[in-house]
Amino acid sequence: MSEHSAGILRIALPVSLRRLFDYLPPKSIPAVKLTPGLRVRVPFRNREIVGVLISLEIESEVPADKLRPASEILDSTPVLSEQLMKLALWTADYYHHPAGDTLIQALPALLRQGYDLGKEVHNFWQPASNLDNQAEIALAKARAPKQQEAWELIRQHPDGISTEALRSFGFEKPLLRNLEKRGLVESLTKAPQYQMFYDHHPLLKSSPLVLNSEQERALEAVICEDQSFSATLLHGVTGSGKTEVYLQAIAHVLSQQKQALLLVPEIGLTPQTLARFRERFNVPVCVLHSGLTDRERLNGWLAAQRGEAGIVISTRSGIFTPLYSPGIIIVDEEHDLSYKQQDSVRYSSRDLALYRGRLENIPVILGSATPSLETLNNSISHRFRYLKLSQRAGVATPPQLELIDTRGQELQGGIAPESLHAIKDTLQQGHQALVFLNRRGYAPTLTCDHCGWLVDCPNCDAHLTLHRSPPHLHCHHCDYRQGIPNCCPNCSSIELSPVGQGTERTEEILAQLFPKTQVLRIDRDSMRKKHAFQETIDKIHKGDPAILVGTQMLAKGHHFPAVTLVVIVNADAGFFSADFRGSEKTGQLILQVAGRAGRADRPGRVFIQTGTPDNEQLQTLIHKGYDDLSKELLDQRRSVGLPPFSYMALISAEATFSQPAEEFLVNTANLAKQIIEVDNLGGPEGVLVLGPMPAPMEKRQGRMRYHLHLQAKTRKPLHNMLYRLLPLLEQDPLARKIRWSVDIDPQDM
Ligand code: ADP
Ligand code: ZN
Ligand code: ZN
Repeated sequence: MSEHSAGILRIALPVSLRRLFDYLPPKSIPAVKLTPGLRVRVPFRNREIVGVLISLEIESEVPADKLRPASEILDSTPVLSEQLMKLALWTADYYHHPAGDTLIQALPALLRQGYDLGKEVHNFWQPASNLDNQAEIALAKARAPKQQEAWELIRQHPDGISTEALRSFGFEKPLLRNLEKRGLVESLTKAPQYQMFYDHHPLLKSSPLVLNSEQERALEAVICEDQSFSATLLHGVTGSGKTEVYLQAIAHVLSQQKQALLLVPEIGLTPQTLARFRERFNVPVCVLHSGLTDRERLNGWLAAQRGEAGIVISTRSGIFTPLYSPGIIIVDEEHDLSYKQQDSVRYSSRDLALYRGRLENIPVILGSATPSLETLNNSISHRFRYLKLSQRAGVATPPQLELIDTRGQELQGGIAPESLHAIKDTLQQGHQALVFLNRRGYAPTLTCDHCGWLVDCPNCDAHLTLHRSPPHLHCHHCDYRQGIPNCCPNCSSIELSPVGQGTERTEEILAQLFPKTQVLRIDRDSMRKKHAFQETIDKIHKGDPAILVGTQMLAKGHHFPAVTLVVIVNADAGFFSADFRGSEKTGQLILQVAGRAGRADRPGRVFIQTGTPDNEQLQTLIHKGYDDLSKELLDQRRSVGLPPFSYMALISAEATFSQPAEEFLVNTANLAKQIIEVDNLGGPEGVLVLGPMPAPMEKRQGRMRYHLHLQAKTRKPLHNMLYRLLPLLEQDPLARKIRWSVDIDPQDM
C-alpha cells in the first residue's frame, strides 16, 4: 500500500485485463488541472499507450516503488463528459467487458491513437471585411444558387461560421473558396467555441406537416412534460408518420437550445431520411457512420461536442457521441438487430440509449412498426409509455396481405403464377412491383444431378452460393471464393445444376418474362459500386413502371410511392428456425417488407408466398396483425421462461480444433455450477447452466464453435455469478489457446 500526496492517477487502459491501473502524475508538472475524462499517455509493459483518467486517488494497492509516472497528459479539457464516463463504465460493468477497452472504444479512432486536440485549427468563414456590393450583385447575376445559399448563410453569421457547420449544410470547401475569390467571404482561424450554434436564424427551412390526431397526441405526450427522463415506445405502423413526429419533437428540442441524437440502423440505406432532416431544419445535421474516414468522424464528434451540430444522426456506435446540450434521444426501428454490437463490447445501443437518457435526464423515444418483444413487454408493464399510431398518414391506406399457397404450383424464378399475374397487372397500371427474396447470388447452391453432390465451403458448415455475375462460388459466412467446377468432383458427371432461388436468378427470369420492363436488382452485390445505390433509388423514384428485386436492403425504411405490389418469396422459413426469436424476427421482416407497398395515394397489395399456409403464426400475422402475433409470442415466452421473462448470457468458445474449445466450456460449466452452489445462486429464481453445445453453425471460418448458456429469472444472480466466474476463466490456461467471449442479452443464438 502506498500513499502519495501528489495524488495517484487511476487510469483505464485499452487492454484485456479487467482492472484499472495506477500511475503517478507525470514528472513535468502538467499545466492543466487533473480531472477525470482527460487522456493520459502512460508506459505499459515496454510500450506507451493512451488511456483515460478515471479518478484521482490518495492510496494505491501498488507498492510505492512499483508505481510509475504517467508520460503525458494529452488534453486540457476532458474528452469524455461525466455522463459519458458513467455510461461507458456502466456498459463495461453490465456487458462484463474490461473497462479500459470500453472507455477507449467510446472515443473516435484518432483520439484513441493520441491525436493532439491542441493542434486543432478551427476554421471559420465570415463576410469579407472589405465587402463591396458589386461582388454581391455579381453573385446574384451568376446564377449559382448553391453559392448564393451559402452566402446567405454566412451573411447571417457576422462572427463567423465554422467549416464543419457549413459542411453539414452541404457546403464544401471548393464552393467556399469560390465565394472567397469573389471577394464575398474570408476565412479565419480561432479557438473552438462551445455554444449552441443556431441562435442566429430561423430553425425551420420548410414548414412542418399538419399532424393527424394520433400524431398530435403522440407529439404532445413527448414534448409537453418538463423534458426530463422518460421512455416512450412510439408504435406506428409503416407509413404512419413516425418520422414526422420525430421531426416535430426535434424542432421543439432545438427551440430550447438543445440537441437531438437520432439512432438509425443503417444510414447508407436510407439517404431519404437524412434528406428529410436536412430539408426541414436550418441547423447543422451531423451524420456519423462506418463509411467515414477517421478525420471525418472526429470532425462530426467535435461538432456535436461543441454544440455546432443541432442534430446528430448515427448508427449504433453514435450512442457515445458527446453532446454539448443534450435534449432528446430517438432510436428509430428499435427492433433492428443491428443495434446490438456483435464483437468486442457486445452492447445494445438501444438499451444504452435508455440508460443515457436517464443519466442526462432527457426523454428517450423508441420507434418501430414492429417493436421487439422486450420493448413491448416493457410498455405492457408500464416501464415505458406506450403511444400508438394505428393509421397510415395522409391519404395512404394499409396494404392488404394475402397468402399464396405455393404447394404443387409451377414456380418461375421462385414466383407463383398468381404473383406473376399480379406483377403483370401492376405494370400495366403503370405502377411498380417489388419482389423480396432474402438470398443474394444466383442460387443458394449447386448440385450434381447424377449423384446428388452439393458444393460445400471448406471452412464452414455451409453450402457455397452460386453467383453468375461474375461466375463464381462464394461462401457468405467466411468470404471463401472459388471457380465453378466443370464437372462433379465426386462422379465426374457434367450435369451440375443450381438449387433454389437467389436474387440474380429471379432477376434473370423476370427480365425474360417482362422484356420491356426495367428490372432493378438491389442487394449487396449489385450495390457494391460507390453510387450504385443512390442511382438505383433515383431510378425507382422516377416512378416509371419497374420490377424491383431485392433483399433486406429494400425492406428498411424506404418510401417508394409507385410501389403498389409486394411479393414475398419464402420469407416464412424463419418461423421454423431453431432460434427462439425466429418467429418474432420473421414477423417483423414480413411486415417491414409489406410496408413498402401502397405508401402513397394508391392502395397496396402484398402477396406472401408460402409452402406452409396453415402455419398458425403466419395465419395470426396475416389475419390479426403484429399486435396479436406479438401477444401470442409473449405468452409462449412467458410459459417457457424465455426472454423477456428471463435473462441470458452466452459464453462462446472457438478454436481450430474442437477439443480445447469444448473443454474450456466444460470447465466453465463446472465452475459455474460450483459458484451457484457456494454462493447459493440456484433454486427456481436462480441461475441455470445450459450446455455446452455446438453453435448452430458448428464450423465457421475454419473454426469449431461452442456455446454455453446461462439463464436466470432476474438479472441479479446472473450478474453476480458472472462477476465471480469471468476472472476465473481468465486464469484457465486454455483461455489463451482459444477465442472466447461473453454476450449479455444475446440476440443471435
Ligand atoms: P413512418 O416513419 O412511420 O414510416 P413517415 O413519417 O415516413 O412514416 O410518413 C410516411 C409518409 O406520410 C411520408 O411521405 C410523409 O411525408 C407522410 N406524412 C406523414 N405525416 C403526415 C401528415 N400528418 N399529413 C400528411 N402526410 C404525412
Ligand atoms: Zn456427381
Ligand atoms: Zn465459409
